[in-house]
Amino acid sequence: LKKEEVDLKDLVKTIVQAFESKASEKGLDMRLELPGEKILVWADEDKLNQIFMNLIDNAIKFTRQGFIKIGLEEKDKEVFCSVQDSGIGIPAEDLPKIFDKFTQFGRKDGPGEKGTGLGLSIVKGLVSLHGGQIWVESQLGRGTVVTFSIPKLSFEDRLKECLSTMIQESVEKKGTFSVLVFSLLKWEVLCQESEQKASQALSGMVSLLRKSLRRSGDTVMAKEGRFFLILPDTKKKDAPFVLERMKEILTGHIRSDAWLSEKISLEAYAFSYPEDAVALGKWLEE
Ligand code: ADP
Repeated sequence: LKKEEVDLKDLVKTIVQAFESKASEKGLDMRLELPGEKILVWADEDKLNQIFMNLIDNAIKFTRQGFIKIGLEEKDKEVFCSVQDSGIGIPAEDLPKIFDKFTQFGRKDGPGEKGTGLGLSIVKGLVSLHGGQIWVESQLGRGTVVTFSIPKLSFEDRLKECLSTMIQESVEKKGTFSVLVFSLLKWEVLCQESEQKASQALSGMVSLLRKSLRRSGDTVMAKEGRFFLILPDTKKKDAPFVLERMKEILTGHIRSDAWLSEKISLEAYAFSYPEDAVALGKWLEE
């Protein structure tokens, strides 16, 4: 998986737009049930797209009239995503087999709708890769609801997950990686003045860093005025060059914004694996 911070609400809105015409051709009403705020999860955006597209495609395929409803709900440490339809439903005896490979039931839905019976088994695999679960509730002739959960990881858990994957890969491939850390000093001062402006500034800088990194495997994570750039295959001798380049970009950005530049300054560190593993560990603990 190539995980990054994804806004599920945005993602769902975009997918639903893409299905709008297919649904209206069949006279189906597409409904959305979304909360007011953003829903950020640490996930692979392409794979999330694939999951939703499969489920919505099935919902449209197996519904002759009525509606398709896509819902998102945040509860404690999970986000629940559901795709509901008012379609033909699935017989109770078939439900236990629904996620098996090549399973199709009562295919009478006409030409051009033949599928492979692989969709739901792939979807289940993708959900499990994210550490989530998936289940189906259905009533014959009434409709179906497929729900899956995506765990919400804390920043520390995400960083840990990312670093341990990198360490594992580096050990296996006898490779290396580097971590660049940028701290915005006096970040608290910004937050005291305006939490909202401070968090906007932070996301602006994250997008800037993402754009400025050239390779798709590079990861940027940020929390409370601190940025972590995790760079696979970057050797200790090369890390300072990337550090300088990124520092210049961030400094330029801060200077161009009067509100930011009069308050904060930047501190930067580079750690490389395996050479600085112990130092990085200590730094993170502190
Ligand atoms: P495919 O759609 O390619 O046939 P899937 O694995 O996505 O394969 O689905 C397997 C089977 O489960 C479908 O063929 C269909 O019989 C049933 N099914 C899936 N989604 C729905 C739904 N929303 N309503 C009714 N039946 C469904």
